[in-house]
Amino acid sequence: MRGSKVISCERCPALVSSRTMIVNGDGKMNAEILFVGEGPGREEDISGKPFVGRSGLVLDRSLQENGISRGDVRITNCVRCRPPENRNPSKKELSNCKNHLYTEIALVDPKLIVALGRVPSEHLLQREVLVTKEAGEVELANIEGVDRSILICIHPAATLYNPNQKVIFESAISKAVELVGLKMKGAK
Ligand code: URA
Repeated sequence: MRGSKVISCERCPALVSSRTMIVNGDGKMNAEILFVGEGPGREEDISGKPFVGRSGLVLDRSLQENGISRGDVRITNCVRCRPPENRNPSKKELSNCKNHLYTEIALVDPKLIVALGRVPSEHLLQREVLVTKEAGEVELANIEGVDRSILICIHPAATLYNPNQKVIFESAISKAVELVGLKMKGAK
């Protein structure tokens, strides 16, 4: 690991054989908000950047509606290598990659962590989470001895098929931007 960047890792045999690239976090190192997704998809695996596919466009648009852009925040994932056929990362894979995530959290030291979807919400909070019900709620999680504020959010991909989820997603992002004081005058 160099800073928050993983240069090489062979801990998860299934992911090592399916990945094209290790997908490290992207964006401002001293960002107020750190978004945490589940793991890279196809586009991310090819480009080496998190949230650049359809989910990324949803996230970008929502940030823009709040008067900020991806360069104002940091974005990373629970696991840095794409699980085959986009399956969820296993408990073992999440645990193997935990040090990388925790190192990034410590280095960025964000005011707020936004968990994008069930997998990162449960991984960070260490409990079962009903994302559609709990989206927008902020809860403290003790990560390596520091109390971190975690905002539960729906995964952006969920908004693509369900307009109700879109409303919940957008209001959680708007709350996140407002909570850290990044909201621009005139933004919704
Ligand atoms: N979904 C995620 O959870 N992470 C990405 O980087 C892309 C899609």
